[in-house]
Amino acid sequence: MSVTQSEALATLHRVFGFEAFRGEQEAVIEHVVAGGDSVVLMPTGAGKSLCYQVPALVRPGTGVVVSPLIALMQDQVDALRALGVRAGFMNSTQDFDERRLVEAEFLAGELDLLYLAPERLRLENTLDLLSRGKISVFAIDEAHCVSQWGHDFRPDYLTLSLLGERWPDVPRIALTATATHATHQEITERLNMPTARHFVASFDRPNIQYRVVPKADPKKQLLSFLREEHAGDAGIVYCLSRNSVEKTAEFLSRNGVEAVPYHAGLDAGTRAAHQSRFLREDGLVVVATIAFGMGIDKPDVRFVAHLDLPKSVEGYYQETGRAGRDGLPSTAWMAYGLNDVIQQRKLIQSGEGDEAFRRRAQAHLDSMLALCETVQCRRGQLLAYFGQDPDPAGCGNCDTCLTPPETWDGTVAAQKVLST
Ligand code: ADP
Ligand code: MG
Repeated sequence: MSVTQSEALATLHRVFGFEAFRGEQEAVIEHVVAGGDSVVLMPTGAGKSLCYQVPALVRPGTGVVVSPLIALMQDQVDALRALGVRAGFMNSTQDFDERRLVEAEFLAGELDLLYLAPERLRLENTLDLLSRGKISVFAIDEAHCVSQWGHDFRPDYLTLSLLGERWPDVPRIALTATATHATHQEITERLNMPTARHFVASFDRPNIQYRVVPKADPKKQLLSFLREEHAGDAGIVYCLSRNSVEKTAEFLSRNGVEAVPYHAGLDAGTRAAHQSRFLREDGLVVVATIAFGMGIDKPDVRFVAHLDLPKSVEGYYQETGRAGRDGLPSTAWMAYGLNDVIQQRKLIQSGEGDEAFRRRAQAHLDSMLALCETVQCRRGQLLAYFGQDPDPAGCGNCDTCLTPPETWDGTVAAQKVLST
């Protein structure tokens, strides 16, 4: 074991109280501690945070973490402080005095980790502040936000390419759970990390059972699904519109399922209250638009349900990936109807963006459609989309494996006739 390895392991035990590294964590950490750039692709819940938190503790200086999840920074920092890690954050929710205090701590070398919203790095005074302190590593979390064609583009992420220019000696680590080859490439290019080492974990989530049902009366179908399989469980129900979020939450509550709505139209206080109830309570259902969930770390989410078709396979994977982070059996359930496809096609055609953008959105939708329509192993299809090799025998834990759909196409029928 190298010095780095034993130091990293000691930090894992002492600070975080964990027995061992998981998967690629150890290799990533060793590379970062040694000063190399890295691009890390790991599914949600795999443990990306430790990949920069441990190096930040092992290397001298402060680890600067860029994250778009402003609403979670306070919680993340509180959790780290509870472990004895000297952490702070800077974002728009703070007043002047709070920010000044964090700045002073950073300059005095009293911070192990400093979380920043990406828009901070547009400000010359932030860059100036950073250049007056000592930085151990730059972590760019949710790095797919730099991708203009992805599902979660944040313009502020484009400015992050300057980190490598201004701090050529500070290692950078970009992390994401979005794995398509195109996104991967775009992250590497836009963040200007040509020499980065790439760490790609398996995207399979074997404990999640993937299922798609034909959409008829989705609220009622959802209710039976919950009553039959997930009574009293915590879960997330995704709807496309704020209106259907409200209606579905009401419908569930009226029918004995404790549910709260979450969407960008609710005021910040209500959103925060519903989110923290979800994290704290045992069996709450959150009915939400995709505004809910990124970065939420609740291990025992037992199901994720989609009442409407997600816009992309990436989105579907991220959203369903919030289920079963504890590794216990969980369900990804979706009601799917062709009307959704027609509606989304119309939205794309009449929506914003140039022709290239529309073509891209259409391609995303088509891949989602292919996933819904497949008669082969659904997990296999999902993994193949992310460029990973599925089990040719099928996974045995998705709807198409558990109840193979009838295939009445002529060739198969003919083969059956010929083989008997
Ligand atoms: P990600 O950012 O990849 O979605 P997180 O970094 O939020 O995942 O980690 C998910 C959960 O896994 C956290 O609760 C974290 O404490 C836990 N975890 C991460 N690494 C380990 C490990 N080596 N041993 C035990 N638990 C771990
Ligand atoms: Mg994360």
